[in-house]
Amino acid sequence: MTTAHMKFDQTSDKIADRVRNLRSSAVRDLFAAAVRPDIISLSGGMPDVSLLPQRAIQKAVHAAITDERAVALQYGSTNGRLETRQALCDIMRDIGVRVKPEEMLLTSGAQQALNLLGETFLDKGDIVLVEGPTYLTALSAFNAYEPEIHSVPFDDEGMRMDLLEEELKRIGKGNKRLKMLYTIPNFQNPGGVTMTGERRKRLIELSHEYDFMIIEDDPYGRLRYEGGHMVPLKAQDDRVIYLGTISKIFAPGLRIGWICAPVDVLARISLVKQGADLCGSTFDQVVVEHYFTDTPWQRTLQKFIKTYGERRDAMLAALEEYFPPEASWTHPEGGFFLWVTLPKYVDTGSMLADALEAGVTFCPGDSFYVDGVTGRNCMRLNFSYETPENITEAIRRLAKVIEERLEL
Ligand code: PMP
Repeated sequence: MTTAHMKFDQTSDKIADRVRNLRSSAVRDLFAAAVRPDIISLSGGMPDVSLLPQRAIQKAVHAAITDERAVALQYGSTNGRLETRQALCDIMRDIGVRVKPEEMLLTSGAQQALNLLGETFLDKGDIVLVEGPTYLTALSAFNAYEPEIHSVPFDDEGMRMDLLEEELKRIGKGNKRLKMLYTIPNFQNPGGVTMTGERRKRLIELSHEYDFMIIEDDPYGRLRYEGGHMVPLKAQDDRVIYLGTISKIFAPGLRIGWICAPVDVLARISLVKQGADLCGSTFDQVVVEHYFTDTPWQRTLQKFIKTYGERRDAMLAALEEYFPPEASWTHPEGGFFLWVTLPKYVDTGSMLADALEAGVTFCPGDSFYVDGVTGRNCMRLNFSYETPENITEAIRRLAKVIEERLEL
């Protein structure tokens, strides 16, 4: 007997409605097609793992595989190994956040944390506030639970609190649909901007006044190239849900992130996580634990900061030299990205094919908004991965492509 072949296209009645509407972006498809070796990429968000110390990593991995109890190869607890959480609580202390291991749950990267938060807290139609533009894959994680996502613009001082307040007034006090506000306060992805101390304080006040959870996503906070450290929201209000990750200060190939939240919140998330994966990778946890306790990881962090800082400087200098006066861009004090704004009539999505032809890639701005329209005249540029020479050349190529689009 043969079974009729099922087709899982858009029309299949087997696919869940919420998944039927998910689309691969045209941009991703275009990138997949671009395999030419001479292309310089300003589109990704990758750390330069070639800067990592081989010996220290060998030591951490060796410690994991030579443990006679082989704990690294066994199932672990859903919330993550206590020893690993302790090591990560210790490194949180130097950014001003004091949490105990019971207030921390380990995840498979911060990305899983975003998905777990969506699954735990969002019903269809619930309201999530985000910066506009915001981290593309946070939008994908939340969208799977069909919320209404409202974007609040930022300026050079982070999310605009006046516009947030207007939006909150529209939503109304006591509105049960309002669940959370998601923010990347340090060196925002994709904007590169950092929320000022004053706005952080105001955000916390508003979260109490309008009763919503703050999700503070902080993958880049330690990668600061100028200016002083900003106190995390979590250090100012215990109810804030803080997301950390080793992806940008160690290695994204080891999938370790964490959620710091009050124990009652974590208990809920932990129940959901059991159904997702039982437990995260114990092996990754043991390696991470050794890396942050037995190796000089701060020295490597300084190397990342120096290298990325030089690359950022190269990009800012090249933009100044080659980009037309009609363009403007943010000045990130750290992180991986900056945000360019072009005249309203320029559509960066359609410009991408020409840029690829010229040998450079970037991320068109509309992908960072829920409506897929706003941000069309903008783009995100990454400066963490390519050498300063390549960055300068890429900006020169991109400037030519832009100039062809300008109405003179
Ligand atoms: N949040 C932000 C703002 C990010 O930029 C990233 C990675 N690019 C993540 C979360 C996810 O990081 P990971 O899952 O590797 O920890």
